[in-house]
Amino acid sequence: MRFSTEHDMFRKSVRELVENEIDPHADEWEAAGMFPAHELFPKLGALGVLGLEYDPAYGGMGADHSYTVVYGEEVGRCATGGVAMAVSVQTDMATPALHRFGSPELKERFLAPAIRGEQVAAIAVTEPDAGSDVAGIRTRAVRDGDEWVINGTKLYITNGVQGDWLCLLARTSDEGGHRGMSQIIVPTATPGLTVSRKLDKLGQRSSDTAELSFVDVRVPVANTIGEIDRGFQQQMTQFQNERLIASYMATGQMAVALERTGAYLAERQAFGRPLLDNQYLQFRLAELVAELDLLRHYNYACAEAILDEADPLTITKMASIAKLKSGRLGREVADTCIQFHGGIGYMEETWTARYFRDSRLLSIGGGADEVMLRIIAGLQGWG
Ligand SMILES: Cc1cc2nc3c(=O)[nH]c(=O)nc-3n(C[C@H](O)[C@H](O)[C@H](O)COP(=O)(O)OP(=O)(O)OC[C@H]3O[C@@H](n4cnc5c(N)ncnc54)[C@H](O)[C@@H]3O)c2cc1C
Repeated sequence: MRFSTEHDMFRKSVRELVENEIDPHADEWEAAGMFPAHELFPKLGALGVLGLEYDPAYGGMGADHSYTVVYGEEVGRCATGGVAMAVSVQTDMATPALHRFGSPELKERFLAPAIRGEQVAAIAVTEPDAGSDVAGIRTRAVRDGDEWVINGTKLYITNGVQGDWLCLLARTSDEGGHRGMSQIIVPTATPGLTVSRKLDKLGQRSSDTAELSFVDVRVPVANTIGEIDRGFQQQMTQFQNERLIASYMATGQMAVALERTGAYLAERQAFGRPLLDNQYLQFRLAELVAELDLLRHYNYACAEAILDEADPLTITKMASIAKLKSGRLGREVADTCIQFHGGIGYMEETWTARYFRDSRLLSIGGGADEVMLRIIAGLQGWG
């Protein structure tokens, strides 16, 4: 992966936006349990980051995937993981299928305003009885003339409280398992769709997470993304975007955490000298820097596979490995940063506490570590 001066300039602009528009508000948004997406997203939209790889006809930048890597690494550095996650829901979880498979009318109505940051999108797949096993979802859309009538419940939906529309996965036929599902755009203002609970979370506290209830929710069949009954397959493709951006963001987060911990240890005195003079601490941090470097270069290999339009199974395997390893390394980095800060690291006033909580999600959300292992084992021919 070779980054040009154009990439460097783009990196600088994203970093400035994070430092000026997100970081100063991080504490306030964490305490509120929500950030104002309708205020922040237009600023991100103006920089082009909400539609980096999308068609310029809908306001996208038409850039290649290497810019997504830069954006992910930089947004990942922000001081509150919840905002990074919510932004990536907009860019890489709720809109890729719409861009790839949606009709021009749907893209005009929902993708273009999402790219401008005027509308906030959410992805609604998980349910109370089906998370890892997506084929187990029960939310049903039954056809009535030109409309779908939707009933069911969705759980843990990021941006679900303040979102304007959902990319919903629902059953649309009686075929069982992974057959007979569709992706449907559902505006959140539709009668019958309510936020039944705003959920309280361990971390990622600046993002809102909802339980959503659907009672006879009617939307046009024309809101279906792509082919009716092909929703599961389309969602599986969309998951690859989700897993890759999560890994790009995680490396940004880890880089900041290691930089800050090194700086703290250089300042903090114990036994008559800076803590960083202890070779054990240097070596442990150096080990993590080495692991992070390997992961970053693996991410770049994933990005090159996308740029080279590698076959879908190769991309699935690489995205699963990247997600698995970034979740695990993130936990190790967060734990080490707290440990090396001592008591102050355990205090809410120190960034380490939030990072420790925020980083824990990556091994669960978007497919748990065990689900990644299942995919990798399956692609090895063992499953
Ligand atoms: C903060 C947060 C935000 C989220 N945002 C969204 C969102 O915006 N949209 C959305 O649709 N979903 C969202 N999710 C849901 C998330 O993707 C699921 O929680 C995740 O996929 C796991 O599903 P589950 O919680 O039902 O766990 P389960 O499926 O009940 O699994 C529990 C655990 O069992 C283990 N396990 C599962 N399957 C296997 C297996 N085959 N072999 C071995 N072990 C296994 C894993 O350790 C797993 O963590 C979010 C979740 C959280 C916590």
